Amino acid sequence: MSAVDKVEDLRARLLAWYDREGRSLPWRIRPDDRAAGVVPDPYAIWLSEIMLQQTTVPHATPYWHDFLARWPRVEDLAKAPREDVMAAWAGLGYYARARNLYACAQVVAFDLGGVFPDTIEGLRALPGVGEYTSHAIAAAAFNRPANVVDGNVERAISRLYALDTPLPKSKPEIRALAGEIADPVRAHDYAQAIMDLGATVCSPKSPSCGICPWQSACQAYALGQPTAYPKKLPKKAKPQRYGHVFFIHREGTFYVRARPDQGLLGGMLELPGGVWSEQGLPARIEAEPFAADWQAGGVVTHVFTHFTLQLQVWCAMAPKDYRPNAGHWADLKALKTVGLPSVMAKAAKAGLKALSHPV
Ligand code: SF4
Repeated sequence: MSAVDKVEDLRARLLAWYDREGRSLPWRIRPDDRAAGVVPDPYAIWLSEIMLQQTTVPHATPYWHDFLARWPRVEDLAKAPREDVMAAWAGLGYYARARNLYACAQVVAFDLGGVFPDTIEGLRALPGVGEYTSHAIAAAAFNRPANVVDGNVERAISRLYALDTPLPKSKPEIRALAGEIADPVRAHDYAQAIMDLGATVCSPKSPSCGICPWQSACQAYALGQPTAYPKKLPKKAKPQRYGHVFFIHREGTFYVRARPDQGLLGGMLELPGGVWSEQGLPARIEAEPFAADWQAGGVVTHVFTHFTLQLQVWCAMAPKDYRPNAGHWADLKALKTVGLPSVMAKAAKAGLKALSHPV
């Protein structure tokens, strides 16, 4: 078989598999939907792609439904108060995405008349839309020929060709190989198919090679060691950071404030606290919002992409003269819905527990 025939064979087998086995996802237009006259909604597809960056389908799906129910059009999202959008995003993580989502909605709604660009280049120019996402939206919303390469696709291609170069060095080679297989005609379906293959069949730890449409061509399978690919450079140990966080309550409420826009969890709500140090737990007195008999609320740990954070939680009633000039007092009963990011939700829960069961 010539190289061209081989690539066409891979493409055809993948698409035939997708027609039979591809996932039905709420934002996805399957071939039978298209035959029934359903057209893609670029706004709903963009929303799904931003949410799925670094987040699994089961975790992102309820958020996607919630956003569309609250803000059915991009104009609705753009006009919503930003703090409402940030609070609705809480729990999805990687909060720069939420800030960019909001900024992007404003560009599309106010500068582009509510119409998403229909090219990879046009999409790429929007806030929060990178290389992968621009290709994914262009294919899914506009059937533009595209080359979607996420972590799932990298894994499948690395195995298909048994690439010995480790990630991330192999990324350009993977991209070129994936681009040869990508279908310029059924671009929409091909993008969904390759992502489904990586996500559901060619899984990281136990690939289902027995049902894989690429099995007969797969070099990693032929070598009998699919999970040996992709090769990766050894991971560096994550640094650990330490800090204090203060659960301050008053008359059935607790105090929250917005973090600065720049930096980690930018724009999200937080409990007040001090710096997060890699040199061990800083002195509490440097972080205390006021002098009090602080009650220990335990330690919470949260793993971020680049470091692990350990926060010592402290709990006290606010003195009458404590009037911070920013932030607000949230109902203690609304702790789960106020819109705290995961690490702060853990700390608030620990604070509430200490409040309910004082030592
Ligand atoms: Fe992945 Fe196995 Fe398919 Fe190769 S045969 S692409 S390792 S699932």
